[in-house]
Amino acid sequence: MVLADYTSPAGKLLNWYREHKRNLPFRENKDPYLIWISEIMLQQTRVDQMLPYYRRFVEAFPTVHDLANADQQEVLQLWEGLGYYSRARNLHAASKQIVDEYGGILPESKDELQKLKGIGPYTSAAISSIAFNHPNPVVDGNVERVLARFKGIEDDLRKQQTKKEIGQIAGQMISQEHPGDFNQAIMELGAMVCTPKNPQCNVCPLSADCVAFKTVRTDEVPYKSPAKKRPHHEIGIGIIHDENGNLLIAKRPDDAMLGGLWEFPGGKQKEEESIEETVTRELHEELGVHIDVEQPFMKLKHGYSHFTVNLHAYLCRIRSGNPEPKSSTEIKWVTVEELSNYPFPKANRKLTEALQNRLWI
Ligand code: SF4
Repeated sequence: MVLADYTSPAGKLLNWYREHKRNLPFRENKDPYLIWISEIMLQQTRVDQMLPYYRRFVEAFPTVHDLANADQQEVLQLWEGLGYYSRARNLHAASKQIVDEYGGILPESKDELQKLKGIGPYTSAAISSIAFNHPNPVVDGNVERVLARFKGIEDDLRKQQTKKEIGQIAGQMISQEHPGDFNQAIMELGAMVCTPKNPQCNVCPLSADCVAFKTVRTDEVPYKSPAKKRPHHEIGIGIIHDENGNLLIAKRPDDAMLGGLWEFPGGKQKEEESIEETVTRELHEELGVHIDVEQPFMKLKHGYSHFTVNLHAYLCRIRSGNPEPKSSTEIKWVTVEELSNYPFPKANRKLTEALQNRLWI
C-alpha cells in the first residue's frame, strides 16, 4: 500500500519503511515514556543487544512513576552489562524530574525535553518527532552514512562542519507530515540496507537519486579519518577477604565513570612500580589499610570506549587498620553468594563469577 507521495526521496523512504520495518516492541505504540527508554538504550548499542534489557526494564518499571520510585541500585542492576551507566543514572534522575516538574508527563518540545537529565539534541529530536510528530531531524551514525552517500559528501565525517552539513540536509529532507516515521525510516535504512560494508543498493528506495551509487563510490563514501589510538592502563585490584571468607567491595561515587556500581578496590599502576606494589598502595589510599598481597587471582583484558585495561586481581588480607571508604561512597563486607545482589561493571562481574565458581580455592 502506497501511503506517501512516491516521487520524492522522503516519500520513497516512508513507503519502504512501512513495508519493511522491523517489528520492535517500542514501535507498537507511541508511548513517549517507552520511546524515551528505547532511545536512551539504543545510544551506542545495537538493537539486538538492547532488546532483552529493554524488555526487562519496562517490565520492572512500566511507567515513569515506577521508575521515579525505584531504588538506584535496582535500576543499575537491570542495566548491568549494557554499559555507559550514566545513561541509567540519568534516566532515573530524569524520571524524578518528570514526576516532580511535569506532573508525570514527558514534555513535547525539543527545548523542554533537553531540560531533562541525559537528554541532548539527538534524543530530544527523536522523542519529539516519534512520540509527538514534531519535524525535528535526527542524525546518528546510520543517518550520517546514508546521507553522505546519498548526496556524495566526501568530507571527513569526524569534522563538525561535515556533521553540520548533513544535519542541514536531514532538516531539508524530513517529511513534515510524518517526521517520526521519516526519522525511523532513515535510521532503519542505515541499519538494514545502507550498511557500512556491502550496501544493498539494488533494494534501496533511494538508489535512483543516490550520488554514491550512481558514481560507484559506495566503498569510498563516507570517509572517516582514523580514530586516535586508545590509551592503555595496567590496573592492580585487591580482592580482600577475611578469615570467614567475606569479601570487601566498594561503591563508586555517582559522578565518576561507572558511578553507583560496586567493585573490588584498586587503581592504575605507576611507572617503576610492580603490580603488587600498585595493589598495596591503592588499597592504602582508598581504604586506609595495610595489606598483604597473598596470590594472583585472575588477569583480564577489557576495553572501554576511551581506553583499554589489563586488570590484575590479587587475593589480599588486611594486615593492619580498619577499612574506610576514602575514595568510594560506601564499602561492605559480603559473602561470595551476596556478590550477585550488587551491580558490578562487566570486568568486575567476571571476577565475582570466578569467585562464585570457587576458582580461587
Ligand atoms: S543506493 Fe546504496 S549507497 Fe545509496 S543510500 Fe541506498 S544503499 Fe546507500
